[in-house]
Amino acid sequence: MRKKSFDVIIIGSGPAGIFSALELAEEGMKVLIIERGEELQKRKCPALAKQIPCIRCPRCAITSGFGGAGAFSDGKVTLSSDVGGNLREFVSAEELDKLFDVVTEKLLGFGAPKRIFGTDVKEIDRIYFEAQKYGIELVKSRVLHMGTDKGFEVLLNMRQALREKNVDIHSREMVEDLIVGDHRIHGVKSTKGEYVSKYVIMAPGRSGAEWAFRMCQKYGIVTDTNPVDIGLRLELPFEVLKHLTDTLYEPKLVYYSKSFDDRVRTFCVNPHGVVVPEMTEDVVTVNGHSFTYPVSDYTNLAILVSTRFTEPFKDPVSYGKSIARLANLLTGSVIIQRYGDLKLGRRSTEERIRKSIVKPTYRGAVPGDLSFALPYRYLNSIKEMLDQLDRLAPGVADDGNLLYGVEVKFYSARIKVTKEFEVENVKNLFTVGDGAGITRGLSQAAISGIMAARAILRRS
Ligand SMILES: Cc1cc2nc3c(=O)[nH]c(=O)nc-3n(C[C@H](O)[C@H](O)[C@H](O)COP(=O)(O)OP(=O)(O)OC[C@H]3O[C@@H](n4cnc5c(N)ncnc54)[C@H](O)[C@@H]3O)c2cc1C
Repeated sequence: MRKKSFDVIIIGSGPAGIFSALELAEEGMKVLIIERGEELQKRKCPALAKQIPCIRCPRCAITSGFGGAGAFSDGKVTLSSDVGGNLREFVSAEELDKLFDVVTEKLLGFGAPKRIFGTDVKEIDRIYFEAQKYGIELVKSRVLHMGTDKGFEVLLNMRQALREKNVDIHSREMVEDLIVGDHRIHGVKSTKGEYVSKYVIMAPGRSGAEWAFRMCQKYGIVTDTNPVDIGLRLELPFEVLKHLTDTLYEPKLVYYSKSFDDRVRTFCVNPHGVVVPEMTEDVVTVNGHSFTYPVSDYTNLAILVSTRFTEPFKDPVSYGKSIARLANLLTGSVIIQRYGDLKLGRRSTEERIRKSIVKPTYRGAVPGDLSFALPYRYLNSIKEMLDQLDRLAPGVADDGNLLYGVEVKFYSARIKVTKEFEVENVKNLFTVGDGAGITRGLSQAAISGIMAARAILRRS
């Protein structure tokens, strides 16, 4: 049977894949996107809908499907080169700023709300200097906040635009292998057949990072390790962080712990949001999002500790997963604990959680003791940061606040690529986004997709 042929095949339809497809299709390229998850409207997480512990679907609706891992995310589009990836290694700051503008304009064109946080320079400076007094650094960044609801609409509009530009999108189909010969890409093999193309862009995200790593090993593509971020998600009354979230939406705060000199940071702040489970391969971790309208009286945010392992250890992803597995082993899911119980060295129970001022927004989490899952080094550094944050925003370290664990950010292996995102050992094979270990957020993932697409267009 004759194999179907395309100019470019894109593996994965997250922001990196979608933005590269838009760029290529606008120039008339014949594009196929292969996505192992569902179409956007069919993506439904049963655990979230029923507020039960994660039931480990074979294809996680949260991290896989059209829109990628960010489809049900809060849609915080961070417009700063200091946040969300390593693209400064590929382009100058000026060029990157222009690309942030391209992404912003595209998102606005597809219906994103116009409000950009982080522009009140005077107030931001005030917070910056206040934080400094407590040994905390504020990373200044602008944020376009779409919200889960608007983000969904934007994705629907993008899906429609791709359809109008005749981009083929195959959902529920997984790329199993690449077709490589003479150090050149020739196409892909999927669960449904083989396809031929001159160019392939791998954009498999974190959920497909292990697969990408296997491909690298098979085809002699060089990889390096990235750090792993491990920590907890804090849920607390909205008012406690209001003065920070109203100005910045996402206060990016960094602290170096006294005990271990580890970098501890806030991440993915969701004012009026909800906590959600997240499945990565076989482990359940925790995450959070919020909408354009308030859905709770609380804010949730991650407190993460970064670790970059040195020789001989080279598998930070497995390390992070092992810690998440411990939490899963103890409770079958995500652990929830009142901060007061953690401080007293006792587990939380349903009854103790009920007494809490903060009512859990993810009721599928199981009361327990996080100190059985999280190594002392991480727990201690997180406690230190909470104490310092409590000085900047009194109430952060309150006994009634809730902690969910564990939250792990797997940055996968860093695939060695050229400045055009072409892998070094296979001609015309490009890799972008979080799965390549190059980015860690929506905006930089999208930009890497645009850049790879432009490199292909230059060659065609
Ligand atoms: C709950 C949650 C909330 C988040 N909130 C934010 C936020 O507010 N702001 C922000 O900047 N970032 C956020 N992020 C991170 C953001 O979603 C990612 O940085 C971004 O989606 C990465 O884009 P990507 O295209 O590289 O990969 P992904 O979005 O992960 O997309 C990759 C796609 O490839 C598919 N795939 C993988 N392997 C294969 C294969 N072999 N064959 C076919 N398909 C495959 C996957 O199913 C997936 O759909 C959040 C992430 C999560 C999970």
